[in-house]
Amino acid sequence: MPSPPSSPRTADLPATQSPAEPRLALPDTIVRGQIVWPYAIAIGLVHVLALAAFIPWLFSWTGLIVMVLGIHVFGQGINLCYHRILTHRSAVLPRWLERFFVVIALCCMEDTPAKWVAIHRYHHKHSDEQDDPHSPLVAFLWGHVGWLLVRNKATHNIDTYRQFAGDVLRDPFYMRLEKGYLWVWIYVAHAVLFFLVGFAIGWAVHGVPMAGVQFGLSLLVWGVIVRTVAVWHITWSVNSLSHMFGYSNYETSDESRNNWLVALLTVGEGWHNNHHHDPASASNQHRWWEFDVTWWQIRMLEMVGLAKKVRRPKCLSEGHGEG
Ligand SMILES: [Zn+2]
Ligand SMILES: [Zn+2]
Repeated sequence: MPSPPSSPRTADLPATQSPAEPRLALPDTIVRGQIVWPYAIAIGLVHVLALAAFIPWLFSWTGLIVMVLGIHVFGQGINLCYHRILTHRSAVLPRWLERFFVVIALCCMEDTPAKWVAIHRYHHKHSDEQDDPHSPLVAFLWGHVGWLLVRNKATHNIDTYRQFAGDVLRDPFYMRLEKGYLWVWIYVAHAVLFFLVGFAIGWAVHGVPMAGVQFGLSLLVWGVIVRTVAVWHITWSVNSLSHMFGYSNYETSDESRNNWLVALLTVGEGWHNNHHHDPASASNQHRWWEFDVTWWQIRMLEMVGLAKKVRRPKCLSEGHGEG
């Protein structure tokens, strides 16, 4: 049976340390004061642009619906492909489908597959230890987004990418993404496409070009920019919230938690204690009610013959699983 929830590690703190103080020091490899400007500017700029959502002229119900659907569709490039397929190799997809999902993931502007995979594997290796690139035990905001903004010699390092994501880099397409700005252009191209499709539909339906501009911009603002910000915070909440709040099925060496809210937003990634207990599993659903929609999608891909070597949770083979 899964072990009972472990007691929060705050209970183990020395009496002299208040729970408000950081429970973990920054990694030694952090270069204090050295901002990673490309990330800082991109993250800041997209957040500022998202404020355009408050302009009523830029709103359309279609844009809102496209945003909600887009959070799922594009988010699965990250959850299903970057995380479960590429990082943990919990199933094997045909090369064309895997690359298709990678292009979808690039439309989330969460970096290239090799970098994402290397940093996430590094996280698993050092989870909630000082070398963890994004432990929220340092500070909530550090684990959520701060770690992306400050140079870390361990994770902004070509040798780390080779060591932790050599398998990903063997694919010539993924290697090409590392050698230039193609991945940025893919993001820009999909944003332009959203605008142009909206422009054409708006003009065709209302018969005036300005209506096309309005509808195209509503799809751009809601369907691309607001959605990008939403997917960022949803992904980041796995690193922050799911290492702080929730319950544990298993005693792991870290503070990973099963967090139902994050699980809902990430369609299954929030069952993060289950994931840290059994990272190779394609399923985080270890109890019947821990719904893992990403797992169901991988199962569907398996049933139609598109996913092979799908790895089941260890708890099932041990006869303990209920999910
Ligand atoms: Zn984690
Ligand atoms: Zn993982």
